[in-house]
Amino acid sequence: MERSIQTISPEEAERQRFFTEEIRSLPQKPSSYFVVTYGCQMNAHDSEKIAGMLEGMGIHEAESREEADFVIFNTCCVRENAERKALGNITWLKEVRKRNPNLMIAVCGCMIQEPGMAEVILRQYRFINLAFGTSNLHKFPELLYRALNANSNTVAVEDRDVIPEDLPIVRARKEFAYVTVMYGCNNFCSYCIVPYVRGRERSRDPERILREAGELCENGVREIMLLGQNVNSYGKDLQDGTSFPSLLRQLDALGIPRIRFMTSHPKDLSDELIETMAGAKHILPQFHLPVQSGSNSILHAMNRHYTREQYLDRVDTLRRAIPGIGLSTDIIVGFPGETEQDFRDTLDLVDRVRYDSAFTFVYSPRVGTAAASMAGQIPPDVSSRRIQELIRLQESLQQDTMKRFVGTEEEVLVEGLSRRSRSEVSGKGKHGISVTLPGSEEDIGHILRCRITGLKNNTLTAER
Ligand code: SF4
Repeated sequence: MERSIQTISPEEAERQRFFTEEIRSLPQKPSSYFVVTYGCQMNAHDSEKIAGMLEGMGIHEAESREEADFVIFNTCCVRENAERKALGNITWLKEVRKRNPNLMIAVCGCMIQEPGMAEVILRQYRFINLAFGTSNLHKFPELLYRALNANSNTVAVEDRDVIPEDLPIVRARKEFAYVTVMYGCNNFCSYCIVPYVRGRERSRDPERILREAGELCENGVREIMLLGQNVNSYGKDLQDGTSFPSLLRQLDALGIPRIRFMTSHPKDLSDELIETMAGAKHILPQFHLPVQSGSNSILHAMNRHYTREQYLDRVDTLRRAIPGIGLSTDIIVGFPGETEQDFRDTLDLVDRVRYDSAFTFVYSPRVGTAAASMAGQIPPDVSSRRIQELIRLQESLQQDTMKRFVGTEEEVLVEGLSRRSRSEVSGKGKHGISVTLPGSEEDIGHILRCRITGLKNNTLTAER
């Protein structure tokens, strides 16, 4: 069935502004909120939008969820334990409600968008007031208004692909901002639930992205992170010929000091994108390139559309064009049918590439995906042994790989005081690696030049 893509119409936006104003004047509205976020950067950014809408209603952020009288769980369903954790915390809130009978609870995000999940949750967790899916985020004011005036719980999950624009945003940091460039994914990797809960790929209008980025730059934001499930297929659905590399070139010309992006699919990593990065002034030398497996037969079963040879070629091209580039990846072990040799191929690939960091996961079956019903599911003890081995290898290589930065100059965007000492600050270098250096609270939000002097665990240490 053809799925329709809709940008929020001015009438819809006006309708939501109406409900925002209505809630402002409601005597029974909650006075404070707390958003609990699970999962990826996309979810973190959605939580910033939820916070923006709540502030517009005159509801302000509480110090903690225990102190809030409206708690919103923005859930993730990519792995089973993220779901379990969210449900465990929701159950815990039932106890909190005994002390605060006015406590409101909402659950939203990817988990609610799973087919039938909202009904299951509301049946099992009757104390939840409101549940809504990712495609209903822009209707949050209206849904909350209904929930505040209802005697039973309110649920809204639609199966449509929306491009939500012009939502108010409370950004978690002053110097750093997420900018979504596209929503959804068309790839249907056989283990992944994202295309089912986030819909098909839809690119935002480049003019809107450039306007948003320009305003952030004027407001003193030092770094933006462009977001999308598969950013480098940005523009394929646009009529005006804008591609991800051309969008990057336009963003680079705005003069924002630092631009990063994630996540990229290796099959869509074009030479043009690499050349654009190499020639840009502000696009940071960092690339997150999920490989998932080093075995061709597993990559095929995962529906990834590249081979290990093609992946290694992309890594070589990146490194030739941008020497010293920071490289990170995602790897799944224990995918159905993964033999010992397949796993060895993954170890071999990790050994060849030498990533600066790797996010490693045990395969987690997700109902409705192709891999969940594949033969050859791997016993937990085997997956567990494999992931331990992979982590040990990555850790030992990483220590070695990161030594290349010692003695080099680096620029660090300071995020906060270091956890160990109030006379040290920490932040991210241009290559995406954490750096700790001498500093104080006044340095937060600034880009500091420093010299890397050493390496402690997975963090670089530096002097100014
Ligand atoms: S590219 Fe694959 S892993 Fe990434 S979101 Fe799309 S389906 Fe999921």
